[in-house]
Amino acid sequence: METVDHIIIGGGVLGLSIAYHLARDSRESVLVIERNELASAASSKAAGLILQAAGKAFQTPLVKLTRDTMTLLEEDLGETIGFHDVGSLRIAASSAREAELRGMERDAASHGIPFEHLSGQDARDRAPWLNPSRAHRITLFPTDGYVDPYMLSTAYGRAARKSGARIRTRTAVSDLIVNSDCVTGVRTASGDVFGGSVIDAAGAWASLISARAGYPLPMAPTRSHYWITAADTSYGGDFPVTLLPDGHAYMRPDTGAMVIGVQEANSATFDARQLPDDINTFSPTRGEDHWDIIAEAMEPLSVFFPAIPQAKFASYVSGLSTYTPDGTVLLGAVPGPSNFFTAAGCCGNGIALSAGVGSAISALVRGNEPEFDITPFAPGRFGSVDPFSSEFRDRCSAARAFKSHTTPSS
Ligand SMILES: Cc1cc2nc3c(=O)[nH]c(=O)nc-3n(C[C@H](O)[C@H](O)[C@H](O)COP(=O)(O)OP(=O)(O)OC[C@H]3O[C@@H](n4cnc5c(N)ncnc54)[C@H](O)[C@@H]3O)c2cc1C
Repeated sequence: METVDHIIIGGGVLGLSIAYHLARDSRESVLVIERNELASAASSKAAGLILQAAGKAFQTPLVKLTRDTMTLLEEDLGETIGFHDVGSLRIAASSAREAELRGMERDAASHGIPFEHLSGQDARDRAPWLNPSRAHRITLFPTDGYVDPYMLSTAYGRAARKSGARIRTRTAVSDLIVNSDCVTGVRTASGDVFGGSVIDAAGAWASLISARAGYPLPMAPTRSHYWITAADTSYGGDFPVTLLPDGHAYMRPDTGAMVIGVQEANSATFDARQLPDDINTFSPTRGEDHWDIIAEAMEPLSVFFPAIPQAKFASYVSGLSTYTPDGTVLLGAVPGPSNFFTAAGCCGNGIALSAGVGSAISALVRGNEPEFDITPFAPGRFGSVDPFSSEFRDRCSAARAFKSHTTPSS
């Protein structure tokens, strides 16, 4: 019989960050069980934006910790993770977005995150493709940027292993073992594993796992996507991540090219029960052509990026994020049997939140207080819902649309 202190289901950025924090901060045994390869689902698709003060003040300390933890990982592993510290440029071109931007500045100030106001000309000097003439307010957050999400995820994995965690790939968890109102382990094809705590970090499939303990998590797999242009010297190389909530889009540089993510009023959501085990065999579409989506997005975007109609596109990336109705992650003890925790439903922010999530779960499962307030993330906060119903999924899709009011939709 195999027994460990902590079992983590899922080897994406969240499962691996939890493993890293647990192994680094305790002497307890940790096992990650991943059905496919590490970071082969959502965590390798992300645009990798790391935006510290992005509209939800209670999430800021979690993202700030990710920013700081990348340096620790690099020191620990003696290798670079490749964080691109290009900063983020936020452009508010309406009174409502200006009020939100002022709120982000207050949040940044309270956490010691630097920012500065820029004139339109200053902004153009940094992002030569930008037409800032409609801007009410432009703010640069110089310590933001973006990271290769696969490199960050696997760096957590390597550092976790270095601290003693074990990682088992190509092994699916088929069920939870529940005894007397306590989750005591997991079932796999190669045998049962028993653990003092079981953590569900199974991404788009997390609600299927938690349903085995009687509580399908309140979140919906939701399509996220972006387009990548061909390289073009007129983009100005390493411009800051640029957030255009009034243009319903964000941009970031990509080795001379540009990544463009657009806001959709109605994002496609999926029934988790219909997903294949390997997401790389799945195309998250409702039948529409993604080139129509970017073509439609060009009109509001061309106010800020006049040359976009001439842009040459080189590729398109789509994948599944998971959204909750309030656009906030699920983090903590799952309602129902004890010893069962989750980190899921991260609403297009899982890369940015990863170290905060890992640190909080590591504290919780060892009976300690997390270093920040996790009340807003309580997995049971929506009560009893049917997360597979189209009515519930519509609420999650709406949350993604609303997210663009304060942060890019990713
Ligand atoms: C196109 C796109 C752009 C994005 N851009 C950003 C961004 O700019 N910034 C940001 O912060 N976030 C972004 N995200 C969101 C981010 O990618 C996710 O929030 C994050 O990767 C979620 O990590 P995870 O570990 O929860 O899930 P995943 O990476 O999906 O990992 C879950 C793992 O669980 C495994 N698993 C599932 N079921 C089982 C089982 N029964 N047994 C064993 N293993 C199992 C899966 O195989 C998978 O590997 C983006 C997402 C997409 C799709």
